[in-house]
Amino acid sequence: MTSPANSARFSAQKRRVALHSMLAAAALTLLKLATGLLSGSLGVLSDAAHSGLDLVGASLTFFSVRVSDQGRPTKTTPMATARLKTSPPSAKSS
Ligand SMILES: [Zn+2]
Repeated sequence: MTSPANSARFSAQKRRVALHSMLAAAALTLLKLATGLLSGSLGVLSDAAHSGLDLVGASLTFFSVRVSDQGRPTKTTPMATARLKTSPPSAKSS
């Protein structure tokens, strides 16, 4: 069964993995960007742009993991119990 202690440990593990993924993507992006700028290689620069997009994805994952952990696990929702509350689009236009 999932005890609160196990759940907290699992949440911390998920956040740590997501954070490490984000840091690795940031390091790769910076290295490729520096290499591309120093060598003037368009290929490496475009790969740096690709890695930058991967960094955006890893950041979204990290954010999502944090949001999903805000809430108490129940029988029907053992993992993600919180939801992002979005405000409806404004009717005004300018
Ligand atoms: Zn990629």
